[in-house]
Amino acid sequence: MTPLLNDSPMMPVFAPAPVMFERGCGTELWDVNGKRYLDFLGGLAVVGLGHSHPVVSAAIARQADTLMHVSNLFANTQAPPAAIKINELLAETTGHDGQVFFCNSGAEANEAALKLARKFGGRGRHVVVSAYGSFHGRTLATLAATGQPTKHEPFQPMPEGFRHVAFNDAAALESALDPSVGAVLLEPVQGEGGVITATDEYLRRVRALCDERGVLMILDEIQTGFGRTGDWFGFQQSGIAPDVVTMAKAMGNGFPVGAVWARREVAAAFQPGDHGSTYSGTALATAVVSTVVEEMRRIDAPALAAARGGELSSKLAKLPGIVEVRGRGLLLAVELAPGLDAKVACAALLTAGLVTNAVTGTALRLAPPLTVSSAEIEEAVAIIEAVLSDAA
Ligand SMILES: *Cc1c(COP(=O)(O)O)cnc(C)c1O
Repeated sequence: MTPLLNDSPMMPVFAPAPVMFERGCGTELWDVNGKRYLDFLGGLAVVGLGHSHPVVSAAIARQADTLMHVSNLFANTQAPPAAIKINELLAETTGHDGQVFFCNSGAEANEAALKLARKFGGRGRHVVVSAYGSFHGRTLATLAATGQPTKHEPFQPMPEGFRHVAFNDAAALESALDPSVGAVLLEPVQGEGGVITATDEYLRRVRALCDERGVLMILDEIQTGFGRTGDWFGFQQSGIAPDVVTMAKAMGNGFPVGAVWARREVAAAFQPGDHGSTYSGTALATAVVSTVVEEMRRIDAPALAAARGGELSSKLAKLPGIVEVRGRGLLLAVELAPGLDAKVACAALLTAGLVTNAVTGTALRLAPPLTVSSAEIEEAVAIIEAVLSDAA
């Protein structure tokens, strides 16, 4: 195929954008023409505290004025307290004390977790099993872990050591666990895969299998973490404790930052020089992390997600044109009635002033800020009702 040349200054990896946004505040966005939108996608589950949160913006400004970066040859005052805050969240929810590595994105967090699993398991126990329908990132290793064969095709050959099994199928996982497997990597809710929730029973079976075989259980909480599902982390509802957790997205509220947390015994597999990044744990990024965690604790963001998520899903379930509402907390997908196309509906909603995303051909994803108000939920549901009844 001859590549289509275009005049954009940017590489054509993203589809042409329908709107150019200029400004945001809370759940609201304004485009360059001054038109107002309700953001029920939250920058793909990133702006958990809403756009331009004054406390987060102030923390960025303050730290930018004080110190941004000194390299990892030196310490800074911001990274240790941020790591303590992340470890406190994980210790409270898993019962394990652990250690944190900071990075800049979700893919980097998973990449670090994959390297940690290889170092921990040793050569010959390096295989990672993940699920079909999963999404773990765009670097070569995280792409290999991503259970979407069509995404692999243009970039073959994939790095070696990855295996995929059906999601929510413990028997399939069990038969994939030969002695070469060092880790299992799963999302508690498959976000990009269509907002498909792992059942509590499945996560408990996976935990039991991992214990039986001495395999690490790594959970990708990049989309589900930081209150989104109504708990701090998506695994909490099942009552299990993972060995390794990756996070990003909402932990920076739009500032690029990610992290991997691991139980101390696992983290100890990394020695100086094994992993790193120029931008690992910069003063600026980690000041943002501390601020986001403090603010989320102050407002009890998980409880807000549970309450507003309950309101939103029960209102949506009553709409004609919607046959299923799935997901957890404020990570939801609505399956449209037969005959309705999600891409078309998404475009019509945008025109009507509501930002969503067609997560599959037939389902819309909703992931508004956890600070969304009940009034904004009513307004959004009214827009969805009007647009779907027009489309039907
Ligand atoms: C977004 C996402 C990633 C990748 O994060 P990036 O910051 O885009 O690299 C990985 N896993 C899950 C579950 C995600 O939702």
